Amino acid sequence: MSDHTVSNANVDIAANLAIVQTRIDQAAGAAGRNPAEVTLVCVSKTHDADHVRGALDAGRRVFGENRVQEAAGKWPKLKAAYAGVELHLIGPLQTNKIKDVIGLFDVIETLDRPKLAEALARQRDKMGICPDLYIQINTGEEQQKAGIAPTDADDFIDDCINRLKLPVRGLMCIPPVDEEPALHFALLVKIADRHGLKIRSMGMSSDYEAAIRLGATHIRVGTAIFGHRSYDLAQ
Ligand SMILES: *Cc1c(COP(=O)(O)O)cnc(C)c1O
Repeated sequence: MSDHTVSNANVDIAANLAIVQTRIDQAAGAAGRNPAEVTLVCVSKTHDADHVRGALDAGRRVFGENRVQEAAGKWPKLKAAYAGVELHLIGPLQTNKIKDVIGLFDVIETLDRPKLAEALARQRDKMGICPDLYIQINTGEEQQKAGIAPTDADDFIDDCINRLKLPVRGLMCIPPVDEEPALHFALLVKIADRHGLKIRSMGMSSDYEAAIRLGATHIRVGTAIFGHRSYDLAQ
């Protein structure tokens, strides 16, 4: 084992999932929301197929991966073994990888630039299919982070929906690590509301309860379910 390897052998995934679900129920209840409105996206990036099976065996069917290559090596077999899996891409998508995501990912949460929207529309025209799309909003306007700036969001969303006729279902954000996430969640909801977009993907292991209070329909939780990653791929 290298220095960067973390053993997850002792992680009780079923128990972790039970804790997370209890917290989802409580956070939703406290906000007067139905917990069934909140979909838990189990973020399985960096964890091998055997580890991920722990969540599948516990009945979970919605998963998130952030690298196309890694997901392509792991998920076709798992999808064949477990019916009803819905796989979300939560990391950046290169336009030359679009062909690889069709049929593998059911949802792309990271539509983050005009060039990608154009390429997805071309691919849809060619193949007649396109995964459901969420637009990633760079709510913190961080230079190094992917996503559409809040000031450009309205035009971009309109363009994707009305001109390109892409299946945009919602918005997604990753708040800056060192800021109060609630402000970012509230901003995402405000933009989504303006466009009648029902899906708001926001909240991770450290802040999913706040996200639920503020209206998250999808929370993306990795560490709290699967344990620590051997290397951190979160951006
Ligand atoms: C890794 C990742 C997550 C999960 O993060 P945890 O802190 O492990 O829950 C959520 N969203 C994105 C985009 C990620 O890359």
